[in-house]
Amino acid sequence: MAALHLLRKQHLVGNTISHLHTSSQAFTKQHYKMLVLGGGSGGIAMSARMKRMLGAENVAVVEPSEMHYYQPIWTLVGAGAKSVASSGRSTASVMPSGVKWVKSKVQQINPKTNTVLLDDGTEIAYEYLIVALGLQLHYERIKGLPEGFEHPKIGSNYSVQTVEKTKKALQDFKEGNAVFSFPNTPVKCPGAPQKIMYLSDAFLRKTGKRESAKVMYYTSLPVLFGVKKYADSLWEIVKRRDIQVTLRHNLIEVRPDKQQAVFENLDNPSETKVIEYEMLHVAPPMGPNLAVKASLLADEAGWLDVNKETLQHKKFPNVFGIGDCTNLPTPKTAAAVAAQSAVLNRTISKILTNEIPDKKYDGYTSCPLVTSYNTVIMAEFDYNLQPLETFPINQAKESRVMYHMKADVMPHLYWHGLLRGLWGGPEIYRKVLHLGFK
Ligand SMILES: Cc1cc2nc3c(=O)[nH]c(=O)nc-3n(C[C@H](O)[C@H](O)[C@H](O)COP(=O)(O)OP(=O)(O)OC[C@H]3O[C@@H](n4cnc5c(N)ncnc54)[C@H](O)[C@@H]3O)c2cc1C
Repeated sequence: MAALHLLRKQHLVGNTISHLHTSSQAFTKQHYKMLVLGGGSGGIAMSARMKRMLGAENVAVVEPSEMHYYQPIWTLVGAGAKSVASSGRSTASVMPSGVKWVKSKVQQINPKTNTVLLDDGTEIAYEYLIVALGLQLHYERIKGLPEGFEHPKIGSNYSVQTVEKTKKALQDFKEGNAVFSFPNTPVKCPGAPQKIMYLSDAFLRKTGKRESAKVMYYTSLPVLFGVKKYADSLWEIVKRRDIQVTLRHNLIEVRPDKQQAVFENLDNPSETKVIEYEMLHVAPPMGPNLAVKASLLADEAGWLDVNKETLQHKKFPNVFGIGDCTNLPTPKTAAAVAAQSAVLNRTISKILTNEIPDKKYDGYTSCPLVTSYNTVIMAEFDYNLQPLETFPINQAKESRVMYHMKADVMPHLYWHGLLRGLWGGPEIYRKVLHLGFK
């Protein structure tokens, strides 16, 4: 209940985490050569790299949360295959040693004065700024949420407060509809809303309940997945496993007391469908980080406006962006953050020596599409939605080895590679494994 209170409070204040720590403020230096906003995947990865480039004393990270989460594993937490505890570590433990952690929330970014205002009124000046503030979840845009999470049978892998509710809803499933939604906004990891559906289907089969279940996927998109090669495989799977897919439908209301989900037909908004559920998984609407949106750094839609090849801001050359907060036209994933971190490192090193950035981000992103408790389709692709596969096999096929990559290898790469600024994506391995042809 306390967790739900927190979730509600976050929506009211419009930020993902609301823990505040002011004790470090008295010791906060007022000026840094490199200021990093956000201590999530991109922020910690870049602060580790910036520490190597500039020295720890020149780098500070503004991050309010005591805990850092490896969000990609929440898919497996929701399905009961991993514990939620395994997804989190203290922020202190992932912060590069010597780098200043400013435990506070960014209130305002003022690129004209090269300053950032924190919510306790402190102002920090910077010479260079890396914005890594992630995106904003908007459960409150669905009528009946987030209060609806106080009822059983509804969960969401997108937040640490609700991910275990998915597992509970799945385990308590008796008979009826298992319903999964995909919102009408940009999302992080666009595969995640359907991964939990395949896992739930597998769970219901394993526990002998699939005969009395209807598995239903309602997506706002006109496609099952954006890259044809992987979408073709996924369509085969949904047909084979008797999963009902409804395109162009958006979840607008949850009636948890009646166990009903209401979807609007995006091609005919006056038409709504009321679906009874025995289990509902919600992928919430998402939008730009509010501090970015309110600043001069935002594009018209509110996302950080960066050059898609160099990750340098389009108007303010001493500002850079990485990850979910940016308007980079590629799906928002930690895999994308890894590839971006290597490019951004190079861009900044060039800018610092008055040279022209020369390394170009190709939009690399990856989505391990978990299709059961031991199989994954490993989607990897670029800005043009063309497959950019690391391994010399057909990655559109369900694979046990790729499941092992997702469940066991990638968490290690994240904690010990990406967050330490040592993992910049699989480009080199792809070249080696494809004998230099990719
Ligand atoms: C269920 C799920 C499944 C996923 N699966 C995959 C997957 O299989 N593969 C994959 O590659 N990716 C996956 N992702 C996506 C991946 O986790 C994100 O794309 C990645 O973490 C983005 O990193 P980021 O640094 O941009 O944002 P985040 O890691 O979200 O970090 C943003 C940080 O900014 C902080 N912040 C926010 N507002 C403020 C403020 N005002 N002031 C200061 N700090 C602030 C937050 O506290 C947070 O720490 C998944 C995500 C989810 C939720």
